[in-house]
Amino acid sequence: MKKLGFGMMRLPLKNALDRADVDVEMTAEMADYFIAKGFNYFDTAYIYHLGNSEAVFKKAVAERHPRETFVIADKMPVWLVKESADYQKFFDEQLGRCGLGYFDYYLLHNLGVDSYAETLKHGGFEFIKKLKAEGKARHIGFSFHDKAELLDKILTGQGGLDFVQLQINYIDWDNEGIQSRKCHEVAVKHGIPVIVMEPVKGGSLALVPGAAENLFKGYDGGASAASWAIRFAASLKNVIVVLSGMSTPAQMTDNTGYMRDFRPLNDDERAIIKQASDLINKNTAIPCTGCGYCLEGCPQKIAIPQYFSLYNNQKQFGLTASQTVYYTNLAAGGHGKASGCVGCGQCEEHCPQRIAVTELLKEVAGVFEKAG
Ligand code: SF4
Ligand code: SF4
Repeated sequence: MKKLGFGMMRLPLKNALDRADVDVEMTAEMADYFIAKGFNYFDTAYIYHLGNSEAVFKKAVAERHPRETFVIADKMPVWLVKESADYQKFFDEQLGRCGLGYFDYYLLHNLGVDSYAETLKHGGFEFIKKLKAEGKARHIGFSFHDKAELLDKILTGQGGLDFVQLQINYIDWDNEGIQSRKCHEVAVKHGIPVIVMEPVKGGSLALVPGAAENLFKGYDGGASAASWAIRFAASLKNVIVVLSGMSTPAQMTDNTGYMRDFRPLNDDERAIIKQASDLINKNTAIPCTGCGYCLEGCPQKIAIPQYFSLYNNQKQFGLTASQTVYYTNLAAGGHGKASGCVGCGQCEEHCPQRIAVTELLKEVAGVFEKAG
């Protein structure tokens, strides 16, 4: 299996203001290209694109390619499970949405300290082991967004798992909140294969500050910034797949180009990444990956990741009229303004990056609503 996976969380949109409105035709073209270049791993989840990613996968891939030509990973939304019977209900719904009889990889989605406790209570691990015994899930594991200590506890307590999915990128490598390096070390200690998510940190490592870009271009003028980030993750021990949430055919062409004959980083490249990482960390105000997990329960429909992206942009490049226009258009297009946040905290409960959303929205409002 090649090491690049097609993450179906940031698919091309027909309407940039509606994450559910995926461009299925363009997704199908990208999937065709991906498979034609010898890749096969797709990754979706119950909640991606506000619940539409699995149906898009069905139309773009499952209905158009023989089953043996692709590998698909899907994920149980553990935070929606209120009782044990819900697992089967969600799983059957997911098979139906994807148009499949089994999943190649199946994960308990987004385990952390609270969701792990709930999953234990409802028998989530027993459920996925049953799926494996029935042949409904060929490989079972979980995705994880918490401290390395908890990861160690889960992997020590739960035998029979085939892999773990971790957030790993060079910016989060030594970040004490995310603990990419420490989590990776735990996985290696347990000898468990690793699937990497967020290698490009929600796209932010594809467009790096000028000084970091100069470092990359000085070494290899033809390599994109994203290629450095994906190769960093793919070079690590135990890593079997690196997911990239591709949104355009150009990203697909670039990623498949350098990952087709994957070349691990050498020592010089590793040193350049360390320097670039130090430079970028100085310039990123809000470490939002744009995953959208915070959006579903927001009573004010606040466009949290888009607002944070605009905020980061103005921190890096200065406030421009176009950023303010984007902000105003988002707020006018059915989304609440940042100042409309009522502080209910639902977003923060679901944010894998542990971002203080409510506090930061006040800063967003201070910048864009004052300017507007
Ligand atoms: S705290 Fe604010 S942004 Fe977060 S879900 Fe509630 S209203 Fe939405
Ligand atoms: S605020 Fe958190 S949950 Fe929301 S998009 Fe950003 S990283 Fe994801």
